[in-house]
Amino acid sequence: MARINEHYAKLPASYLFPEIGRRVRAYQAAHPDAKVIRLGIGDVTEPLAPAITEAMHAAVDEMGKRETFHGYGPEQGYDFLVEAIRQNDYAARGVDIAADEIFVSDGSKCDSGNIQEIFALGARIAVTDPVYPVYVDSNVMAGRTAAAGPDGRYPGFTYLVGTEANGFQPEPPAEPVDVVYLCSPNNPTGTVATRAQLERWVAWAKANDSIILFDAAYESYISDPSLPRSIYEIPGAKDVALELRSFSKRAGFTGVRCAFMVVPKGVTGVDPSGKRVALNALWARRHTTKFNGASYVVQRGAAAAYSPAGLEQTNAQIAFYMENARLLRESLGAAGFTIFGGVHAPYLWIRTTGGASSWDFFDQLLTKAQVVGTPGAGFGPAGEGYFRLSAFNSRANIEEAIGRIRKAFG
Ligand SMILES: *Cc1c(COP(=O)(O)O)cnc(C)c1O
Repeated sequence: MARINEHYAKLPASYLFPEIGRRVRAYQAAHPDAKVIRLGIGDVTEPLAPAITEAMHAAVDEMGKRETFHGYGPEQGYDFLVEAIRQNDYAARGVDIAADEIFVSDGSKCDSGNIQEIFALGARIAVTDPVYPVYVDSNVMAGRTAAAGPDGRYPGFTYLVGTEANGFQPEPPAEPVDVVYLCSPNNPTGTVATRAQLERWVAWAKANDSIILFDAAYESYISDPSLPRSIYEIPGAKDVALELRSFSKRAGFTGVRCAFMVVPKGVTGVDPSGKRVALNALWARRHTTKFNGASYVVQRGAAAAYSPAGLEQTNAQIAFYMENARLLRESLGAAGFTIFGGVHAPYLWIRTTGGASSWDFFDQLLTKAQVVGTPGAGFGPAGEGYFRLSAFNSRANIEEAIGRIRKAFG
């Protein structure tokens, strides 16, 4: 008899996207002619840039020839990609990251779910509310919490609540915490941490001997050049922060799969005897034990995103999505909606109208405008009363959605 990991029972059945799907199907069945526009799911819609597909085609051809075939590659990633990352993402912004501090992977979802393994079960974890659910669920699975209470919160976490008053960028906690998950630009609120806010986080982590897990999946959507794109642009962050980055939103790799995590050698935890241990060594051990490297073809594609043509083409895609975000923000703002985010991220966080619950607002938007978004409550109790719209869609659909929402709610 195999005894199961009982902590999985603490997780509610995955509810958000199945429930959205159920409601949309029911509506569509009752209104077969309605053309529903989906601004709900956080997935890109533009195809891969030509520079990337060319590099991947060439890599496939290499794989098909004896002389240039590649078997297992280095678990941490090929040098050509690691060097491109070091130069373009870090050195170009004045940050020195060593090659062996970069761990190429097949996605930030896995990295953000797996990283908790290297911390003690008793580690005190802080998460924001609303939040990217992976940070929460992966720690629940590991057994760091009790079952969720009636308010949807798990005893054992420190929750940092994002509100309109704090611009959805909560301050560091007063209580002691060992590890905090931050995401900026933020999914779901679309807001971004300023340099001063990141400086407070780094100062807090240093003062409290805490570690910041910084998810920068949307860094390339930052439009203000004075905002930091990496937490390592804050002095001292290399002693307290790990950074997660992904090619998913920046180069359309959601279906290709490539990401990386930076684990600087200066970031340490303590073992049971109180001895300092570098997280880099622990993560290297974990990564090389449980992961056999992202595919050669995919890493060639990711490296091509840094070529002059690749940068130009992928930056144009991001500019396209951000123009969608601007159109949504300005037209819905003019129609009277209260909107956050959408300036440095492809998400808008909208206050529901008339104090509607986020699911009631979902139904209103679906039935009155045939537009699908994501109820804020799906990202945590503090998301109640808010709604996420994504800018990932065609221009025609964005314009059509705006027109319908203005007509229905104007
Ligand atoms: C999309 C997203 C990622 C990227 O995940 P991948 O597994 O690399 O596709 C990471 N973090 C957040 C918050 C995201 O929204």
